[in-house]
Amino acid sequence: MPGSTDQTLRPFCWRAARMFADREIVSRTHAGIERYDYATYDNRTAQLANALEKAGIERGDRVATVCWNHHRHFETYFGVPGTGAQLHTINPLLPDEHLQYIVANADDRLLFVDPSLAEKLAGAASDDPGSFESVERFVVMGEADSVPDVDLDPLTDYESFVGEHSTDYDWPRLPGEQPAGMCYTSGTTGKPKGVEYTQEMLWAHAMATMTPQGLDIDADDVVMPVVPMFHVNAWGMPFTTTAAGAKHVYPGPSPDPADLADLIEEEEVTLTAGVPTVWIGLLEHIEEEEVDLSSLERIVIGGSAAPESMIRRFDDLGVEVMHAWGMTEMSPIGSVSHLKPEMEDWDAERRYEKRAKQGLMVPGLEFNVIDDAGEKVPWDGEEFGELWIRGPWVTTEYYERPEANEEDFEDGWLKTGDIVTIDSDGYMEIVDRTKDVIKSGGEWISSVELENALMAHNDVAEATVIGVPHERWQERPVAFVVPGANADRENLGEEVLDMIEAEYPKWWRPDDVVYIDEVPKTATGKFDKKVLREEYDDESIVEGEAPEEAAPGTD
Ligand code: AMP
Repeated sequence: MPGSTDQTLRPFCWRAARMFADREIVSRTHAGIERYDYATYDNRTAQLANALEKAGIERGDRVATVCWNHHRHFETYFGVPGTGAQLHTINPLLPDEHLQYIVANADDRLLFVDPSLAEKLAGAASDDPGSFESVERFVVMGEADSVPDVDLDPLTDYESFVGEHSTDYDWPRLPGEQPAGMCYTSGTTGKPKGVEYTQEMLWAHAMATMTPQGLDIDADDVVMPVVPMFHVNAWGMPFTTTAAGAKHVYPGPSPDPADLADLIEEEEVTLTAGVPTVWIGLLEHIEEEEVDLSSLERIVIGGSAAPESMIRRFDDLGVEVMHAWGMTEMSPIGSVSHLKPEMEDWDAERRYEKRAKQGLMVPGLEFNVIDDAGEKVPWDGEEFGELWIRGPWVTTEYYERPEANEEDFEDGWLKTGDIVTIDSDGYMEIVDRTKDVIKSGGEWISSVELENALMAHNDVAEATVIGVPHERWQERPVAFVVPGANADRENLGEEVLDMIEAEYPKWWRPDDVVYIDEVPKTATGKFDKKVLREEYDDESIVEGEAPEEAAPGTD
């Protein structure tokens, strides 16, 4: 027998507004710090729902956002899917041709945009008006005076759009399979692929990630997602935080480390989340400025590997890092690197080794690791293969992309493209992406491991490693290093190479170290190796000769 209702998002908001009515939602906006409580939030989502209805938005229609993290964007998180429409969050940092493709592919009918992003959007729209044909109205996220002079038509401001409407709305009872969200993932090649999230996927993700084995969110938390709300629902945190009845803090447009530090201090943030790059910035900031981080208990770091050195650094500051792994296709959380109770007594080195892994799957997920021959690899922490995963919040297809579906899904499993090991305790470690592993003389070299080793050096701010074509060994690793402020640039290259040689097989030693000012990043803050590959697609950068032992067996 089914339950009396399906698994949908609305009850989270219903409960928070009644049982935690005075908990705050705080947001740094173009107009400064704004704050209100859950009761007000609930009323405003109802006003938004009424406004959408008046604008002719119906169940199944897509409503897009091109916005940073703030309270109005959060209102769309419950307001849009609550009506049965689908919230499509768009990454504003994408190149124009991707924005154009995404809006046309999703057939968005209404589009919310931040004042500071309206010009970029207008540029993309005027460059290819056909791709924005489905959009019937643009709404700027602010008051009437925030509407910029840009060529988007018709253009309204959010407060006028919702303001005149009733705070009563008759929320429909929705089926669990109703599409509620959508996000595009930018693969390494080809056009972005759309992933749809149903009501029940987002519900299940929120329930699982709220637990201590997930992101461990409770009513006494003050949660600040720095991960953008356009990147897989800010890792689901706006939903989870509401489900828990906790306080929300949204850091607004392009927050810098000082903004984040101020918000942590002033709003007494207990839990925050974002990609490693954000935390490199915060750590640098607190070295120079006096900052009170005493309220901060935990940081979720994911999207890219959290270097062990970063986990240690935050431990020294009394902040626990929860290293998490996930994907757009998975709503997004898959694993979190919590220690098992019996590991708390281990010595520090062993504990850090475990915590730097991507960790244990959140309850509800199942996975296999499949090698090149299509066989399951043993859980020995050594042998690796591609991670295949399935679960209630893992998608089974891309939106209108049959050729990609063929490649990335099999028998109901998502083929993640991540190359991993699983150790005997069940902890997953990502050793590479299928497309990033380096093959030298027929043997794998993990670019991720080399990167982590390089970044553990005190004078290396950031580092990435790519494979460049090589006549004899097919590919050889080359390291790109951003030297730290006090680095001895003359000797740093040799130093890091010696360090790697001491720790890894000789043939893992990169053939060259190239200094760069910064590692290029994708629109979601991940290292963009594609750019480096294009820029350095030239064997001349391999100044050093590959060692004779550039493959195993010759060592
Ligand atoms: P996206 O869909 O843009 O969120 O990217 C998902 C991909 O990011 C995964 O398949 C991984 O390759 C990578 N990723 C996410 N979290 C981590 C992590 N903690 N460590 C290493 N790679 C990660």
